[in-house]
Amino acid sequence: MIQSQPISSTAHILISFQPIQVTTPHRSNHHLHVVEFEPTPVMSTYGLAFAVGEFELAQRHVGTFPKFINIGLHTPLGRSGEGQFALDWIQGCIEFYQDYFDIPLKMDKLDILSLSSHVPGGLGNWSLITCHESEFLLEPAAEDDIEAKILIARTVSHLIAHQWIGSLVSMDWWNSLWVTEGLLTVLEYTSIHSLEPELDMWHRFVGDVVLKALEADALRSTHPLDGDVQYSEIKEGFDVISSGKGAVILRMCHQYIGESLFQTGIQEYLKRFSHGTASSVDFLNLLEEVSKKPVRALFDVWIKKSGFPLLKIEDFECYGSTRVVTVVQEAFLPETIDSNYRSYLQRASWIIPIQVSLARNPYIPVKEFLMEKRIQRFKIQDTNFHEWFLVNYT
Ligand SMILES: [Zn+2]
Repeated sequence: MIQSQPISSTAHILISFQPIQVTTPHRSNHHLHVVEFEPTPVMSTYGLAFAVGEFELAQRHVGTFPKFINIGLHTPLGRSGEGQFALDWIQGCIEFYQDYFDIPLKMDKLDILSLSSHVPGGLGNWSLITCHESEFLLEPAAEDDIEAKILIARTVSHLIAHQWIGSLVSMDWWNSLWVTEGLLTVLEYTSIHSLEPELDMWHRFVGDVVLKALEADALRSTHPLDGDVQYSEIKEGFDVISSGKGAVILRMCHQYIGESLFQTGIQEYLKRFSHGTASSVDFLNLLEEVSKKPVRALFDVWIKKSGFPLLKIEDFECYGSTRVVTVVQEAFLPETIDSNYRSYLQRASWIIPIQVSLARNPYIPVKEFLMEKRIQRFKIQDTNFHEWFLVNYT
């Protein structure tokens, strides 16, 4: 619990986590006053933010009587009209996540501060989100710019979900950052797909997230998702491996255990560790508990080792209406790596969830299994020689 007493100039607006409790003149400087906020609930100190300055305010009320959430979007002076698009998404995302997490937003106010001097990416501080103006404000010239709108929708969705993940429950150390950032990336696509299905977000996921994660993970500079993190290395952890590769393997798990059980696991995670901390193992244990599938064993190599596997169909035979397919996994080996790293990758073997679809219905898998060996054979029944099939993993 934190009780704060910042000092501000009387000419400026002051916003923070909680509503203001009392304001009193400063003892020795009549240009300043001391502001006391209501005490916070139990929370991580990294989620606390204050802001003092001259802002313009665009407001929205979310919810129905008697439970309203007051949304305040604070913009540079003269820019509040450009915040209406973001306010629509903020409202939609709050309603979506309250339902998806089955937990109402903790606070009955949410402030968002968009600044021209903010670093890119935004910060999902609890109850006072801060971000760069380009990620929340839609300039009149960009009204028809679909990419600018999707950037705002993704940023809003990510930072609103941080009000639960990373705030209501935070990680117990920075090696679990990939759960927070990876999960939030998956939820960006989940929420936007639900609110605007015509944007076809899951197809965009491949180019926006999967390919970028593979590219970064193929470099020698990559690192295991869940490795040792020293205090001095915390900042470096906010990279495409944590958010991108984290998202890709969580999306793989999402497909392996099913959307509904994945959602149940997240709800349980937020309820069981509410106002506390949890590790990546706690999160994976919950997914295993709700799905009754070997989630921890599946994730083990994916999170402890860097790099990723390449799957090859080596052979297939036809016996009447049955096909027997031989699939082989090997580590993807970038062209320019040293011999030590090459042998490190060559020793790895992953557990890979595989789905098989046939041409007659590509979106419904006819076979699902875990590939647990380097070479595995599987059968496809009731098919013919000319019918194509897809073997996918993501
Ligand atoms: Zn984040």
